[in-house]
Amino acid sequence: MSARILEGKVFAQQFKEAAGKRAEAFRQKYGTAPGLAVIIVGENPASQVYVRNKHKSCEELGIRSDVIRMPEHATKEELLAKIDELNADRAIHGILVQLPLPDAIHAQEEEILNRIDPAKDVDGFHPVNVGRLVTGSPGLVPCTPAGCIRMLELADIPMDGKRAVIIGRSNIVGKPMLHLLMAKHATVTVCHSHTQNLPEITREADILVAAIGKPKFVTADMVKPGATVIDVGINRIAPKKLVGDVDFEAVKEVAGAITPVPGGVGLLTVAMLMQNVVEAAERQMET
Ligand code: NAD
Repeated sequence: MSARILEGKVFAQQFKEAAGKRAEAFRQKYGTAPGLAVIIVGENPASQVYVRNKHKSCEELGIRSDVIRMPEHATKEELLAKIDELNADRAIHGILVQLPLPDAIHAQEEEILNRIDPAKDVDGFHPVNVGRLVTGSPGLVPCTPAGCIRMLELADIPMDGKRAVIIGRSNIVGKPMLHLLMAKHATVTVCHSHTQNLPEITREADILVAAIGKPKFVTADMVKPGATVIDVGINRIAPKKLVGDVDFEAVKEVAGAITPVPGGVGLLTVAMLMQNVVEAAERQMET
């Protein structure tokens, strides 16, 4: 039997509706909209598309969105000064720096991201927010893994007591996913490029998360029948062709539920960002 397809747009719409209602309540209560500032440095074409999508979503939901464009040759100091200015701006509740940064300042990425006030760090990358996630205290959580967890909840896929396996240990996806699944009482294994006997481990998973960045890496023989498979990967294999980290056509014949690429997890990320902006705005007004 073919797997249930977890369509990103269905869940993204639900996240957006919830964020839109909260944004409306915020405007009613405080007479101002939640505000997001996105800094984009240079002309990376993929980044331009991502920033446009974020801006559009903000507009749909009545969230103020400022896009700050800085030239390719902007220096670290100029970027830090802009972040300081936004940190002090009370009308801006969320700040994000679109990655990747141009080569000239790429090595300073950590220093630049760490300059964002943790209260406004809607990407959830600041060490303060990472620490809160690890210790289980309220903070801002990276949008992609947070979106996956919320999707599992809305899809009524149980996590409590289940075996979860994550392939990938990045700071953006794999590691936060570990903590989020653990907080939902799953028993979690994180695999990576040095893991031995990977298929043996992945076949134990009730929930299998692939965040690797390798086209069709997860094959049907790596999946336990009936498992839920979440494909975070986005791989461009031709100018107009995106595929995930999972061999979708083969795996959907074994899995119980699966996210497609495109049309899966990617759509959840922006929707979850909207929720983080509203959340950050509410917290800043309450403190
Ligand atoms: P990354 O390159 O930082 O991490 C990849 C991970 O895969 C590493 O931890 C590495 O150990 C692991 N890996 C590599 N080869 C492996 C192998 N042979 N066996 C087991 N593990 C292996 O990538 P990332 O930032 O976590 O992104 C992963 C994928 O998810 C990419 O395709 C990226 O484009 C995509 N992504 C999508 C979204 C979204 O919104 N849907 C967001 C972030 C990332």
